[in-house]
Amino acid sequence: MEFELNEEQRMIANTAKEIAEDFPPEYWREKDANGEFAEDFFKAIAKAGFLGIVVPEEYGGSGYGFTELLIAMEELAANGCGMAGVWYLVLTECFGALTIVRHGTEEQRRKYLPKIAKGELEFCMALTEPDAGTNTLAIKTRAVKEGDEWIINGNKIWISGADRAKGMLIVARTTPLERAPKKTHGISLFLADLPNKAVKVNPIPKHGINYSKSCEVSFNNLRLPESSLMPPLDEGWYCLLDTLNPERMSFTTAAIGISRLAIRKAVEYSKQRKVFLDPIGSYQGLQFPIAEAYATLECAKLMNFKASWLFDKKASYREVGAIANMAKAVAVEAGIKAVYWAMQTFGGYGYAKEYDVERWWREINLIRLAPVTQQMALNYIAEHVLGFPKSYR
Ligand SMILES: Cc1cc2nc3c(=O)[nH]c(=O)nc-3n(C[C@H](O)[C@H](O)[C@H](O)COP(=O)(O)OP(=O)(O)OC[C@H]3O[C@@H](n4cnc5c(N)ncnc54)[C@H](O)[C@@H]3O)c2cc1C
Repeated sequence: MEFELNEEQRMIANTAKEIAEDFPPEYWREKDANGEFAEDFFKAIAKAGFLGIVVPEEYGGSGYGFTELLIAMEELAANGCGMAGVWYLVLTECFGALTIVRHGTEEQRRKYLPKIAKGELEFCMALTEPDAGTNTLAIKTRAVKEGDEWIINGNKIWISGADRAKGMLIVARTTPLERAPKKTHGISLFLADLPNKAVKVNPIPKHGINYSKSCEVSFNNLRLPESSLMPPLDEGWYCLLDTLNPERMSFTTAAIGISRLAIRKAVEYSKQRKVFLDPIGSYQGLQFPIAEAYATLECAKLMNFKASWLFDKKASYREVGAIANMAKAVAVEAGIKAVYWAMQTFGGYGYAKEYDVERWWREINLIRLAPVTQQMALNYIAEHVLGFPKSYR
């Protein structure tokens, strides 16, 4: 058992820390307030090679594993970027690069990976639908073959980055649910190039993470070439799990990174703020809940690295899913506690935009809802790890 980062991993962590220091909380305060995409941050992570961490060298990347990507994400988040340090990498590298590395055809790899690694192609994933979020297998978006083309029709919701992405991973039904021998059958994955007149994109005003837009998307007879299908036809669900599990681990890392950042700022502030005779940081009433949340987050981090280690050695999606869901369920609650207490440490100032902690509060609360809700993470553990009967139909 080895708990130390190796030399390359340390290098990635140091580079991430340096980048994050160039994009401090006040930068994100402004981007969030103005609803602006962080172009210069995106260029900086591309220049550092972070968008190609999981891309094999022959396609212009560094050829590292997913674990290295998590290391970069955590240090970006913890050293100033908060959720943004994870978000942009999830959209382009998890949804785009990682999916294509694991399941793309040679033609798809050559087409997309070099551009993603260079930062020339942003990606997004269109899975969720107005009536199919938690119940993913109920998606209704249909892909029908006509000659040598696929015709796609349907509506998606909450598709982050769809307003700017040039590549989209579309999850569609090639066999409708009513005709599928089992629910997981009939799901296929497609890679689409954007913009396209048949794809309408409408950003949804939202609570936080406003440096990236999340959108309603509709496909109205979107025509894609035969080569846009990511094989195997009808069995894409199992490939998609190799995207959804890493997405889950990334958001666990976001919870850890945002919490580290909020805790550091709270500790700094608490040492200089005096209300009665001593600095407020000397009061155990503030120390204990933060210390407890931090300890829990450190445990979740080890568990999350176990999940990424399993993923990198291509363990089954069930093995990865079990550990990833446990890490996520624990990290989110501890992260919410950490940021809550960081906000409490700032007293009334915690409510002011100027101290940033209110933004991290908005960011961390998303992780209870997405990419998977806490209830569904617990359902997974109850059913697939503990053997309880499935509690829903
Ligand atoms: C900001 C943001 C960005 C997003 N980005 C993307 C993206 O880029 N691409 C994409 O495809 N999707 C994206 N999503 C969608 C996200 O993954 C879904 O919102 C999430 O999976 C929950 O689905 P839902 O919103 O439909 O909630 P519902 O499925 O309607 O769930 C509502 C509530 O019911 C509970 N519930 C449902 N079933 C059960 C059960 N069996 N047992 C217990 N409780 C249950 C849920 O836990 C939840 O609390 C994003 C969402 C947000 C908010």
